[in-house]
Amino acid sequence: MSLELISKIHQLKTEKNAAIIAHYYQSPEIQDLADFVGDSLAMAKYGKDVDADCLVICGVKFMAETAKILSPEKTVLLPNPDAGCPMADMVDAKSLSMHKKRHPNHYIVSYVNTSVDVKALTDICVTSSNALHIIRQLDQKEILFLPDKNLGHYINTQLPNQQMHLWPGFCRTHDRLKPEDVKSMKVLYPGAEVLVHPECDPSVIDLADFVGSTAGIIHRASASSAQSFIICTEEGVLHRLKQNEPEKAFHLASSKLLCQNMKKTKLEDVYRSLLNNSHETIIDETTRLAAYDALDQMLALS
Ligand code: SF4
Repeated sequence: MSLELISKIHQLKTEKNAAIIAHYYQSPEIQDLADFVGDSLAMAKYGKDVDADCLVICGVKFMAETAKILSPEKTVLLPNPDAGCPMADMVDAKSLSMHKKRHPNHYIVSYVNTSVDVKALTDICVTSSNALHIIRQLDQKEILFLPDKNLGHYINTQLPNQQMHLWPGFCRTHDRLKPEDVKSMKVLYPGAEVLVHPECDPSVIDLADFVGSTAGIIHRASASSAQSFIICTEEGVLHRLKQNEPEKAFHLASSKLLCQNMKKTKLEDVYRSLLNNSHETIIDETTRLAAYDALDQMLALS
């Protein structure tokens, strides 16, 4: 059944000159189907550069929006419209507008994991890959970082002269991981390198041998001479890690590291979305242009 469905998807993809773009946290079958697999920014950049009329974004809603912000001339489809990001939902345009009225001097730095409406109220976006590099270059005195307090806290520890105000959001998947989970794994796998995503709680980050974005973790696993790793990010990344380094051992720090939203997209959703052009991402042009400015600022400094 899967093989038949995959063949139909490929046929539709050719007919519609579409590209399928997936996040590292998607299920293995979706990653294997995709033309490109990456983190959220790499997905949007690939979508912008690829010669296609239609982008099928296998990820969550803000990723489809980011692709549309950068590629307004392309049709952008989100195969499962229920795939959202609970962390992105922890800040909305109304509450950010209220904050800006109360603190007009605050320079707004938004994680790319935000809605297009929030990006439109943002001065500059960052990703977990480039946040340190970009925020280090800012000379604004008062910065509000949103929505991820864990990533913001990590950046504050790395930049003692640049203490940002933090929005109280967090990723429910990464925040579930507790230091006891990591300590138990270290007992089970002594000598394994601990690779931690900065969306994890500071108490987990304290146990890391390496802290980095999903792409950073993948790169580190290849570059390191270690043969065994404890992985502290969403479990979907194991697929790419094992593909890249089949001789090395990867141990997920906890089975709790599973994002339900990232697993909502199924092959059937991709097929139906392509067949019917359903769940297209539409953004009004004024909002898109304002959000584009925040992404463009990021690209200029990264
Ligand atoms: S892993 Fe966390 S940040 Fe990523 S989509 Fe899921 S809830 Fe959002």
